[in-house]
Amino acid sequence: MSRPFDLDPLFRALTTLPGVGPKNAKYLEKLIGGPKVLDLLWHLPVDFIDRRFSPKISEAPNGRIATMEVTVDKHMPNARKSLPYRVSCSDETGAITLVFFRAHKDWIEKQLPLHQKVIISGKVEYYQGRAQMAHPDAIGLPQDRAAIETVEPVYPLTQGITNKAVRKAMQSALGYLSALPEWLDEAHKKRGQWPDWYKALEAVHSPESESLLSPEHPARMRMAYDELLANQLTLALVRDRARKINGRAFQTEGVLREKILSALPFDLTSAQKEALGDIDKDMSQPARMLRLLQGDVGSGKTVVACLAMMSAVQSGAQAALMAPTEILARQHADNLKPWLEAAGVRAIVMTGRDKGKTRETMLQQIRSGAAQVVIGTHAIFQEGVDFNDLGLAVIDEQHRFGVHQRLALSSKSKGSDVLVMTATPIPRTLALTAYGDMEVSKIGEKPPGRQPIDTRLTPIEKIEDLVAGLKRQIQTGARVYWVCPLVEESEKLDLAAAEERYDILKAAFGERVGLIHGRMKPLEKDAVMEKFAGGDLDILVATTVIEVGVDVPEATIMVIEHAERFGLSQLHQLRGRVGRGSDKSYCFLLYTGPLGETAKERLSVMRDTEDGFVIAEKDLSLRGSGDILGVRQSGSAEFKLANLAVHGDLLAAARADAKLIIEKDSELESPRGQALKTLLYLFEQDQGIKNLRSG
Ligand code: ADP
Ligand code: MG
Repeated sequence: MSRPFDLDPLFRALTTLPGVGPKNAKYLEKLIGGPKVLDLLWHLPVDFIDRRFSPKISEAPNGRIATMEVTVDKHMPNARKSLPYRVSCSDETGAITLVFFRAHKDWIEKQLPLHQKVIISGKVEYYQGRAQMAHPDAIGLPQDRAAIETVEPVYPLTQGITNKAVRKAMQSALGYLSALPEWLDEAHKKRGQWPDWYKALEAVHSPESESLLSPEHPARMRMAYDELLANQLTLALVRDRARKINGRAFQTEGVLREKILSALPFDLTSAQKEALGDIDKDMSQPARMLRLLQGDVGSGKTVVACLAMMSAVQSGAQAALMAPTEILARQHADNLKPWLEAAGVRAIVMTGRDKGKTRETMLQQIRSGAAQVVIGTHAIFQEGVDFNDLGLAVIDEQHRFGVHQRLALSSKSKGSDVLVMTATPIPRTLALTAYGDMEVSKIGEKPPGRQPIDTRLTPIEKIEDLVAGLKRQIQTGARVYWVCPLVEESEKLDLAAAEERYDILKAAFGERVGLIHGRMKPLEKDAVMEKFAGGDLDILVATTVIEVGVDVPEATIMVIEHAERFGLSQLHQLRGRVGRGSDKSYCFLLYTGPLGETAKERLSVMRDTEDGFVIAEKDLSLRGSGDILGVRQSGSAEFKLANLAVHGDLLAAARADAKLIIEKDSELESPRGQALKTLLYLFEQDQGIKNLRSG
């Protein structure tokens, strides 16, 4: 199946719109984030100007936008360029002066011919008792009145492009719209009094009242629902196809598990036991497992995953553990090593760094099955890596992978069970968009003996007190992370800031201060990390590269500089680096004032709670769905039309809808199914479409 013909005009380049040249198209593309007509249509107005008010001059109130018919009485050019060009106009009730700065005489004379009637529209202002209008927004002839006397949408803009240009392009784009077969359930549509999809778009782009700007207007609700339905349908399709590939039944209890459990220096918490129970149930059944293991940093997911891997190995299959970065992969390997050794399981670690002979040997071990457990980065799922018999793929995503990457991956791992670990406390609504109806196990309780982290907000002016305090703490054996912020535009600047802090701290603390940043080679990074973990460094200055999963239980102090620049979930992840041992931990959020309201609120949330879910919910409400999932970088799941802070209920409905659709018509062959295919194309849900093709 290929894209329905009806959609073609919407997928054309912006330059095909009348009046949009290559230059304007470039600015537009930057503004709307895409090169197509459709991308423009998704760019929704945030305000409007009502030009329908058309009083006589004497009735026009100060400060209001008015459209008036006036006669041009007199041109008053100014010899001095710095002074304005005035044009005096009138109607039967009074006079008004039009004011132009840096005006082109020819243009004004042409627009406002002497003694002619013209229509002007703009903001009326009174100056020394006289009505005037500076730079009318619109000027036209009496016959243009209807075109001027309208409601103009106001769009978000960027440099290089005017609202007028966006409106003009939008008008042309709206002309490309046509009715499409309805993909909504009729009853559902009726209940919400939702318009047809193209009528919804038209309405939203010509807002005649405040209500059309509201996300709860039926037209906006419909558009949000369309987008969410496309998302949920894709996930449902992927899952449906994944389910149809049969998994197999593994033996979940066995000597390997026994050996590891008895080697652990602790007992599993009941939350861990429960999660493992869920996984066991999935793995012992022939249906394929697709489960999400959710738990805050340090909640002990890795042990659970390790025990799950043993079920695969016990049954003669292989297990793989994939981490988002090299450091994390090695950390996992180090953590798992004593346990795997206790069980006598052969494991290898493979990352992108392994080349040539080493890599060949590893590939050979993976192919033969000699490597029972394979730990690594995405390198372990790349082309050329063939598992002898992969039973379980564990993906530690630490919110680094985009949704689509993961979907691609789970389809690559054929019939193996898949367990995704995430430390991102995802609010329920977001979990649905990213994971669809993936089964979820949650570890909501931390291992015993952890003390709360004492979090303090410290203005940068107090940095000397802080340094003095650190000196005392370090003397008693504390280890400190000092994080410098990411200045998005420039990695170089980040680095400069971190290096400067490093020099300052070195001057204060001497040689036992280290620096780690994203520009370092993996080997260099590892070396520094190792020194810090091994106690050869007291302070580790880092840009945000200190990986979310790195575990140094002895580190008890986290300093985050310019904390106001970080997102809440990022702060939470960073803070999770400390408080991992039994000693009391501290987190100092160093901020540079003055703080805005939101920044203040965010930092206070951090001070007041350690509960990742509370923080995530707060994050969502403070900034909309945003990039909590870290998907903004990968540009995949950010919604253009839906705002989950408002449309959370729609999401639940879309999910239920999608589930039902797939149950009844998994190939989307019914009339509604056909229409839904159009919807998938409309929202460029490539993954869903691909699954339909191959399914
Ligand atoms: P996560 O992967 O969820 O961030 P980890 O699995 O890395 O957490 O566990 C964090 C630390 O807690 C590790 O040092 C781990 O050995 C330890 N740990 C895990 N489970 C328990 C437990 N039940 N009791 C005590 N310590 C535990
Ligand atoms: Mg971990």
